[in-house]
Amino acid sequence: MKKFKSLLIMLLLSVTAPAQTNKPSRKMAVTFDDLPYASAGQPHDLSKAQRVTKELLRVLKARTVPVVAFVNEGKLQVAGEVDAQIALLQQWIDASAILGNHTYSHPDFNTVTVEQFEDEIIKGEVVTRRLMQAHPSYQLYFRHPMTHTGDTQARKEAIEKFLVARGYKVTPHTLENSDFIFNAVYVDALRNHDGALAKRLREAYLDFTIAATEFAERVSPKIFGREVTQTLLIHANDINADCLDEMLLRFAARGYHFVSLDEAMSDPAYQTRDTYVTKDGPTWLWRWMKSKGMHVRFDNDPEPPGWVAELFRKR
Ligand SMILES: [Zn+2]
Repeated sequence: MKKFKSLLIMLLLSVTAPAQTNKPSRKMAVTFDDLPYASAGQPHDLSKAQRVTKELLRVLKARTVPVVAFVNEGKLQVAGEVDAQIALLQQWIDASAILGNHTYSHPDFNTVTVEQFEDEIIKGEVVTRRLMQAHPSYQLYFRHPMTHTGDTQARKEAIEKFLVARGYKVTPHTLENSDFIFNAVYVDALRNHDGALAKRLREAYLDFTIAATEFAERVSPKIFGREVTQTLLIHANDINADCLDEMLLRFAARGYHFVSLDEAMSDPAYQTRDTYVTKDGPTWLWRWMKSKGMHVRFDNDPEPPGWVAELFRKR
């Protein structure tokens, strides 16, 4: 009887155990744009860039999150500060980040010629490639500014061909959180020493990030029959410096494990060829859906709260 009882307990445990740990196993790659620092247009201040870099890297190291971070090398050219700016990039490399190319000066591909855009790619890799020289062989990644990949099929294909010839892969993203909107308003609040508003913005930003994540989780099975590995696009800015730790915790609470971009790119969904031509910069979930000739409705795609959008508009 005793034996039977313990068997029964074991059986019960085996039935109940999965329910207790029933957190889905999800994967996410994390990418940063606009290195060394996305300033939201405030007056130039090296110390702010240094603070943001230090804080982002502290959190990424503590949580062992692999990242690819995309550089605009034009931002390094600050009189009297070139070495200090390059030192910021070196800190990312020292923290095991892979640096990618985001063009030299962040032009909108919709407004320049293919040849001008090619020059921007070439000029955009000089310092980064030198800094990454000591790194064992790695995949070169490119991300188009504003993820504007070409407003005609011919222009899109011309740049894709150019990038492939130079060894680059175009970097998709499946998840973004309008961080530049929150950040702009956040930087204003910090400058005005409005701690209450800054706190409210951090909370709204984190909630919105999770709402955007839930949306990506809901929509990807409609395209691929399963949740795909997510790739997050965020910027090297103040609000992320102050929210990244909590953001990563919230992702982890949803079952996310942080993987390299290389691993994310090996998800079969990412083999879908993006043939969708647009002047806008939608996520790759949208591009892949369109490229597959599907018509999935993307309604309930969350927008930042009205009060944040209003503050942003009034700047
Ligand atoms: Zn950018």
